[in-house]
Amino acid sequence: MRIFDPHIHMTSRTTDDYQAMHTAGVRAVVEPSFWLGQPRTSPASFIDYFDALLGWEPFRAAQYGIAHHCALALNPKEAGDPRCVPVLDELPRYLDKDGVVAVGEIGYDSMTPAEDHALAAQLQLAADHELPALVHTPHRDKLAGLRRTLDAVHESALPADRVLLDHLNETTVKEAKDAGCWLGFSVYPDTKMDAARMVDVLTEYGPEKVLVNSAADWGRSDPLKTREVADLMLVSGFTEDDVDLVLWRNPVAFYGLSGRLVLDVPGAGTGATHEGNSILRGGS
Ligand SMILES: [Zn+2]
Repeated sequence: MRIFDPHIHMTSRTTDDYQAMHTAGVRAVVEPSFWLGQPRTSPASFIDYFDALLGWEPFRAAQYGIAHHCALALNPKEAGDPRCVPVLDELPRYLDKDGVVAVGEIGYDSMTPAEDHALAAQLQLAADHELPALVHTPHRDKLAGLRRTLDAVHESALPADRVLLDHLNETTVKEAKDAGCWLGFSVYPDTKMDAARMVDVLTEYGPEKVLVNSAADWGRSDPLKTREVADLMLVSGFTEDDVDLVLWRNPVAFYGLSGRLVLDVPGAGTGATHEGNSILRGGS
């Protein structure tokens, strides 16, 4: 079984996680830009983070046989902070880089005017740079949040079929599907979607354009949730081809819209270095 986790924050995870993910079948990930859990205090903080998502983290992933790409953006949690917003001026030069396969994650958190501005600006950046966009939908007030998100997409220059709407659930999937977007579901240990609900959604709406992710980060989360959904799909009567569509071919098709997806992993297990540094921290 081959698995592509289309939304995971590996910077927050250990090498044990990479090892376990590889054992479970994960061969590719996309890491969208996230907030730190505490506020960033200047645009320079993003620059080091973006550089790590383009350099150190793909190197670290490759040591475990996993292809790593990223999506870059000003995160919704930071869109209202005047110390962070100037990073919008830095994004264009980063969005031209090879490892960037989308703008994201963008979208609404509290649905403020500042978030309206950041979302519209970044949907335009995606259109300008011929990238798809990973759009987070709010965890609270989900249907109203989805509708406001769809309004922003429809007002933008980015076609709906280049948008992945994430953190969907039973209340939002139908309108997202009717709008022609890609459908993302984050499966968490004890909140939001779980594997059983995910399989029910797949049974009702089908596997087309559906992507399942762990959204694992520094909070309570599990990078093996993708495999759990795959196993439960098989037990529930889905075919291996259905599993491959949801867990591999759909993410490849969506991020492939960037024209930048490279799924061969050079250097796995070779003890290679990145700018002179290895995951052995100076050991050999
Ligand atoms: Zn996330």
